[in-house]
Amino acid sequence: MAEIDLQNVQKRFGDFTAVRESSFTIRDGEFFVLLGPSGCGKTTTLRMIAGLELPTEGKILLDGEDVTYKRASQRDIGFVFQLFALYPRMTVRENIAFPLKCQSVQRAETKRRDLLERSVSGLSGGDSQRVALGRALVRRAKACMMDEPLGALDAEFRHLMCVELHALHDRIRATTVYVTHDQTEAMAMADRIAVMNHGVVVQIGSPQDIYDRPSAMHVAGFIGSPPMNFLRFKSSLAQGQRSVQLNGAAIRVPTLRQAVAEGELALGVRPEHVTISDAGEIRGEVFGVEYMGTMQIVTVNTKHGQLKARIPSRQRVQVREAVGLNFDSERLVVFDAVSGSALKSRLFEESADG
Ligand code: ATP
Repeated sequence: MAEIDLQNVQKRFGDFTAVRESSFTIRDGEFFVLLGPSGCGKTTTLRMIAGLELPTEGKILLDGEDVTYKRASQRDIGFVFQLFALYPRMTVRENIAFPLKCQSVQRAETKRRDLLERSVSGLSGGDSQRVALGRALVRRAKACMMDEPLGALDAEFRHLMCVELHALHDRIRATTVYVTHDQTEAMAMADRIAVMNHGVVVQIGSPQDIYDRPSAMHVAGFIGSPPMNFLRFKSSLAQGQRSVQLNGAAIRVPTLRQAVAEGELALGVRPEHVTISDAGEIRGEVFGVEYMGTMQIVTVNTKHGQLKARIPSRQRVQVREAVGLNFDSERLVVFDAVSGSALKSRLFEESADG
């Protein structure tokens, strides 16, 4: 097991900077997820940790040892690509043992020993997946890197494998770095998530921290389904202020810990923190209603932009109906809409993990 420390790590490909000044520590035994849209630098970061790519600048430490210029083979790190990268003509036993030149497959994490002598080409998708995982884990390397391992799977099976991977990690506690663009996967499995955008690590925190206390509009808009709503407004704000003015309506927010000069702002509200009633603080017109079983997603047009509310399906709401909206004041985030950063407020003082 290992602690992995990145210090001002940068990666440039010619003039293009794929990863910018990344500094963070992955704790011993942690399931750490690199999450972000395509091209944001997740895989490049993972490959630098594994030793498959050299950083242009910065240092990488594995358990305190500087491994920045060590080859992948000298780092004792396991790597799982898309889980179907198996040798189809070989048996399960050979697939696990061959790439690792492993003396014994007794330690293989594949639980199904009856599968060992079967050819991989005859296995179901699920069993192929488990074999590939077993192959990566059999070495008990210091750390395990996984790059979109569930990418090729359909939604139902992906969910099943998420649960299995999580259970496996709980059992062996190997430091794991996992790359995905899928926020659901990240939220379900991670101890901590690093959200990346344009080569920058924007925020690191536990799934709950990232969801409840997004430090930037990019994070708030990337996480959640539907993601956080942003109501645009212009104002100046004073430190200690406990409400903001949207078109004359005073909306209570967690006490602000910083002031801003007159500027473009956005009030961030999660769909589940909106209620629809006749006497709401903000008025709007219902644009659409999506039935989802016990809940429904109601899209409302307001003067500050479109907003989605997640409310119980039993509440009757009609398209084109004029409605009032109320917000859970304890959970609102005010953003500087130009820089995209969240303003400091009491909400961020409740953080459980940094
Ligand atoms: P994806 O999920 O699409 O792979 P990612 O977040 O993992 O996205 P990376 O693969 O790390 O992104 O790539 C980051 C950026 O660096 C991309 O714009 C990519 O085109 C570029 N890049 C990656 N490898 C190279 C390379 N060898 N040469 C030039 N550019 C590269």
